[in-house]
Amino acid sequence: MAETLPNSAIADAFEELGDLYELDGAIVHRVLAYRAAARTVREAPVSIAELARAGRATELAGIGDTLQEKILTLLDTGTIPAMEKLRAKVPPGLIAITRLPGLGPKRARLLHAELGVDSLDALREAALAGRLRTVKGLGAKFEASVLDALERGVGERPAPRLLLPRALELGRALADGLSERGGAGTDVRIAGSARRMADSVKDIDLIAVTRKPVTLAKSLAALGEIESVASAGRAGAKGRSHSGVSIDLRIAKPSQLGNLLQHFTGSGKHNAALREAAVRGGLHVSEYGVYDDAGGTTTTCASEQEVYALLGLAYIEPELREDRGELAAASLLSRPTHRTHSAHSALPELIALPDIRGDLHCHTVASDGRNTIEEMALAARERGYEYVAITDHSASHGFGDDVSPEQLRRQIERVREVDASIDGIMVLAGSEVNILPDGSLDYEDDLLAELDWVIASVHTAFTMGEEAMTERMIAAVEHPLVDAIGHPTGRLIERREPYAVDMPALTCAAARTGTMLEINANPDRRDLNDIHARAAAQAGASIVIDSDAHGVERFDVMRWGVATARRAWLTAEDVANTRSWERFAKLRKQTRQ
Ligand SMILES: [Zn+2]
Ligand SMILES: [Zn+2]
Repeated sequence: MAETLPNSAIADAFEELGDLYELDGAIVHRVLAYRAAARTVREAPVSIAELARAGRATELAGIGDTLQEKILTLLDTGTIPAMEKLRAKVPPGLIAITRLPGLGPKRARLLHAELGVDSLDALREAALAGRLRTVKGLGAKFEASVLDALERGVGERPAPRLLLPRALELGRALADGLSERGGAGTDVRIAGSARRMADSVKDIDLIAVTRKPVTLAKSLAALGEIESVASAGRAGAKGRSHSGVSIDLRIAKPSQLGNLLQHFTGSGKHNAALREAAVRGGLHVSEYGVYDDAGGTTTTCASEQEVYALLGLAYIEPELREDRGELAAASLLSRPTHRTHSAHSALPELIALPDIRGDLHCHTVASDGRNTIEEMALAARERGYEYVAITDHSASHGFGDDVSPEQLRRQIERVREVDASIDGIMVLAGSEVNILPDGSLDYEDDLLAELDWVIASVHTAFTMGEEAMTERMIAAVEHPLVDAIGHPTGRLIERREPYAVDMPALTCAAARTGTMLEINANPDRRDLNDIHARAAAQAGASIVIDSDAHGVERFDVMRWGVATARRAWLTAEDVANTRSWERFAKLRKQTRQ
């Protein structure tokens, strides 16, 4: 039937299969396998249909022969037999119901059996008629919470979003592909939320200058990452990637490049605030230029620096363009003409990747890492670091990755040996210790005292209430041997909400006790996030940025943590591990010095 299908359609089918299996009560493993496959397909940069036709879809993680077969069947027949069978058993409308808070597959099945509810609309009707409360085990309170969730639009499928690394990878591939096809003088830049280094991205904005605009716009359709192109002309092109992301290419005259880059880097709120500020000075800012009421002239700008200078502002780094006070901070103290850029502003000098001098969170084969202490130490030295802390999981981590107190003692000895045998980097003995539900740690104090560095993290019992979770984490913060709190909110971007914890209280306790708070740089986490990290630094807490690397190549994720720190307005001074070990060590709690 279908010659080809966009990745999003194949991913939707796998996701529905996973959901239907879950509603049917299948084993968890199968459900998770379909969901993982859906994610892989959705984010793949190339056409999965084409890959499957070539017998090569199995090259992707999580796609085996069986799933490749299912993709081919879907392409040939428009459906998958297992899906048809399940649809006959469980109404697909129940899937949306399982996404509502408090409503898992079990309750969705119950509502279907008892009330015949088979869609969000039917659920709303039943709730409004007061019928949900008649079902055993569900009450009036439950009914009200369902109505509230429906009101807020929970349950609708969200548009696909790419995590930042994927978005930048896609943006870079498109920019390179276009530059190649546009010929000499073509320059393609990434704008939008990807340029602002946001956590995730739903569309990619590209701004180009070229001598052959029509050729460049038409060549978008020829790129391997592109699924379809809706329009292409002299001003640019619009299309969709195989990963389901909208692509917007705009072509600028070189004299206008600064205006377009500024406008399409956004954010919307930053631009709105900028327009308002400009109007007060009799100016109108848009992607076409800066219009002056008094002179009746429009000035175009080749660079963003010129755009901001025309408005009396210093250049604002893209990461700061969120309307969080950056315009006030960028005001130049002596109002300049657009020729003088030298006046001072109150903008921070943002931290950059080369400022980082050590990584204080990584795992080895002793827990769930893939490399040895020595391999991790050498990889850290290759990054130019002066120190690295080995912090495997602790005694109660589970999944077979526990490190017993006895094993930790041996691990400390091994770290000392590696440290003695490798020049050019200091290897520190640490641990990522579990914060148990009661706030205690899972090693004895005398063992913790033998370590150079202790991170405490929550890895279990995520769902406790805010008061209990806050108490639990503050207990760890107050522990005299805890140096830092790892991934303090536990969020997974686009996948798991942060746990309920009173961040101002946690931050305050961290500042008071000298406990550092981590920006975990794993691009799935970026935790602390930008808002929390800025508040923490303002409250006087020390911030440490760590990779949480589980393999040598993962030290590279440090850049995403630095991106979050930049979005949090942090300078090198605000981040502890921009210091030499000697100075870093002094920032730790008194008990360790
Ligand atoms: Zn962890
Ligand atoms: Zn970790």
